[in-house]
Amino acid sequence: PPLTVRSLSEAIGRPAKQILGILFKRGEMLTINSLLHEETALELSLELGVDLKIVKPKDVEDELQEYIDLPDDPSVLENRPPIITILGHVDHGKTTLVDKLRSANVAASEHGGITQHIAAYQVTKNGQKLTFVDTPGHAAFGEMRARGANVTDIVVLVVAANDGVMPQTVECIAHAKAAGVPLVVALNKVDLPDRNEQRVLQELAAQNVLAAEWGGDTEVVRTSGLSGEGLDELLETLLLTAELNEFKANSQRPATGACLEAFRDEGRGPLAWLIVQKGTLRRGDVVLCGQAYGKVRSIFNEHQQELDEAPPSTPVMLAGLDIVPAPGDKFVVLDDLDLAREIAERRRMAGRQVSLSSRGGKRTLEDILNAAREGEVQDLGVIVKADTPGSLEALRSEIGKFEHPEVRVRILHEGVGGVNESDVYLASASSAIIIAFHVIPEDRAAALALQENVEIRRYNIIYEVIDEIKQTLEGMLKPAK
Ligand code: GDP
Repeated sequence: PPLTVRSLSEAIGRPAKQILGILFKRGEMLTINSLLHEETALELSLELGVDLKIVKPKDVEDELQEYIDLPDDPSVLENRPPIITILGHVDHGKTTLVDKLRSANVAASEHGGITQHIAAYQVTKNGQKLTFVDTPGHAAFGEMRARGANVTDIVVLVVAANDGVMPQTVECIAHAKAAGVPLVVALNKVDLPDRNEQRVLQELAAQNVLAAEWGGDTEVVRTSGLSGEGLDELLETLLLTAELNEFKANSQRPATGACLEAFRDEGRGPLAWLIVQKGTLRRGDVVLCGQAYGKVRSIFNEHQQELDEAPPSTPVMLAGLDIVPAPGDKFVVLDDLDLAREIAERRRMAGRQVSLSSRGGKRTLEDILNAAREGEVQDLGVIVKADTPGSLEALRSEIGKFEHPEVRVRILHEGVGGVNESDVYLASASSAIIIAFHVIPEDRAAALALQENVEIRRYNIIYEVIDEIKQTLEGMLKPAK
């Protein structure tokens, strides 16, 4: 119930008149239905000699999250296919590789029949399934994570053997590392005469991605999306990586997962590509997905075949939601349609914000500082963008010298150039701050930073950067410039 003079009077068993009297003496002319601040209510109770405790009802969103995060008994966990995302610098051969992977798994009759975009698909190798999520780029990968939807188990980084590590390659590495998922490198276009594999391995090592053949822990597979060379080996390496990491899920619980993309179909209404992460999704289930809800009318796989059920790691296209959800929205199966409707409607009232950001264990700088104050050592992630390699170098060395008993500053990503959308999503997903040294954010990145509540701090003098990180850590930072 709202905290009013009346409800306070009822709660502490004192006449409302008495409460109004005290307020009047304080110069506040209120009525019995006036809303009170929590603090005021506590002060009033104290003055009346009553010990008041204000208990807030648990937020239904928190309860939902708890339900999604509910741990499973290890004995019910089963292996599930790994969920893989392919990233890489533009033109290094992502699309070609994906086409080749898919065509090996698509019936001939289906070729050419595919008009809709396939957001995710499965490939079978040696009788085992692998799930691939087709992300439109690493910024989108970061966006999903910023939304709290961590679906990827393994990242395949495509690097063209003739072109080597490029700026977007570095961004992809930063995203994969921040996600904490294993990386497998597809050293692509090895059919080209101007390939230079050793140079690429060197460049990767410079990014702290050390190839297994050089004693590191990153598998590097030579591939050609054109000829198909190395694709079998790539799949085998992915299966091996999955085996080592033991990706498991409980298929017996109600399904939860995330929306990869969604659209409205002329005939079938809202359609959503979902990936099931836990549990099994079935026809007839009640689904709540972001602001959308509904009863599952039908689920299709990427071959447009209708399925009765979808176990963990299965990508499906779902029909039955009332509106089109957004990429990164989490979905959950509930047993009550009315409850699903109620939550969906409340989210709509609250606006897009609630279902997108601020959920999913995102930590604010404040959380980090608070935890640090309580004595746990914390990592403060920073993303450094600068005008020249020289400035970057100088910043890196300054930040490296930084010492603090409770907080470690970690550079999640650094690069020459303006702050872009990939940086903002990376910062958002990792609760990091962005340091822009002699550079400005791109327009879209600036707008996105506002929306995502990401701090971009601009500096022109190196020592200011360090001073300000110090001040931030002391929790006495002046408003960002
Ligand atoms: P994306 O931007 O990463 O998706 O790259 P694409 O798959 O569109 O490929 C970019 C260009 O490289 C296209 O002209 C492809 O034909 C070419 N390409 C892709 N893979 C290979 C490969 O393995 N070998 C060679 N020689 N060319 C490739």
